[in-house]
Amino acid sequence: MIDSNQNICIHCGFCCDGTLFNHANIKANEPIAPSFVFEITPGEKRAFKQPCPYYRNAICFIYETRPYSVCESFRCKLLRSVISENVSYTDAIKIINGVIALKTKIELQILEHHPENKGDSIHNKMKEFEAYFAETMNDVEFRKKFGHLLLDFFIFKKKLSDSFRKTTAK
Ligand code: SF4
Ligand code: SF4
Repeated sequence: MIDSNQNICIHCGFCCDGTLFNHANIKANEPIAPSFVFEITPGEKRAFKQPCPYYRNAICFIYETRPYSVCESFRCKLLRSVISENVSYTDAIKIINGVIALKTKIELQILEHHPENKGDSIHNKMKEFEAYFAETMNDVEFRKKFGHLLLDFFIFKKKLSDSFRKTTAK
């Protein structure tokens, strides 16, 4: 998330709240503020889980000391398109709001049909739901019941891929 170019990021937060990623890698030799606590994944890579524990109420709580490589320098495809003036600020906000609306719709459907789902972000909710679906996909009733949800999720993933992925970091 960065704070430039009419600040579309304050309307979004998808690179912090678990919508786009379930973890973020920090460069091996990058100095990190002592207050920043991140989970060390197996192997050489340093990473922290998403939703980021420092993202609360649509704000980065460690904004001044956030990691450079994965946070400060991060620009998703949409942000880069706004900066290069290939997408207007207004159109970018429309894209973000469209994704938020679809995300809310998917979350409500999961809550209604699969309330035991414990995913802490849309990314993890759908991952859990997909595992559940894989176990029961031969059940015709199940497929009828969740067909709309799976279609919404397919569209959701495509919107993320088309508008936000192909990034410079994370
Ligand atoms: S996903 Fe893109 S637009 Fe959204 S907060 Fe991150 S950098 Fe900004
Ligand atoms: S540290 Fe801040 S900018 Fe980085 S992922 Fe967390 S909330 Fe987002």
